[in-house]
Amino acid sequence: MTTRVIYPGTFDPITNGHFDIIKRSAAMFDEIIVAVAASPSKKTLFTLEERVALVRDSIQSLPNVSVEGFSGLMVDFAKAKQANLLVRGLRTTMDFEYEFGLTNMYRKLMPELESVFLTPSEEYAFLSSTIVREVALHGGTVESFVPKTVHNALQSKIHPK
Ligand code: ADP
Repeated sequence: MTTRVIYPGTFDPITNGHFDIIKRSAAMFDEIIVAVAASPSKKTLFTLEERVALVRDSIQSLPNVSVEGFSGLMVDFAKAKQANLLVRGLRTTMDFEYEFGLTNMYRKLMPELESVFLTPSEEYAFLSSTIVREVALHGGTVESFVPKTVHNALQSKIHPK
């Protein structure tokens, strides 16, 4: 059976922690679709198009990984794409509680979608898009935490010429 994985999230913006999970998934499964949620309830720094473009730039070296934006229910998108596996990243026990609740809901909505949780390399265990945005907005350097393309995009967003 082909494993078609969906890795959903807001990716505002993609970090090296997300990329670590994508790389691990790409090594294990046939096809990975990074699904960037429109997340209209969140006030995102980057637009959906920008977030998708930043993921696309970051995954160029991984031939079995693609990216798409979606709005609405993640499970509806997963069904439309005929995904059979959901990947989520687990950093700390705080993630575990949240993800556990989500998974139970997803299982009710789409029982055929199995969930897999991956942990990142320990250097990324405390890394989040929120921290990256906060540090960048206050003038700190986030170069070692995000792909180069994201670093450049943050600079242009924060200090428009
Ligand atoms: P969401 O709004 O769905 O939480 P995120 O973009 O914040 O979207 O995260 C998407 C997924 O990536 C989640 O499963 C999250 O736990 C995981 N993730 C985020 N940052 C990291 C990281 N540094 N290491 C591993 N997984 C991560």
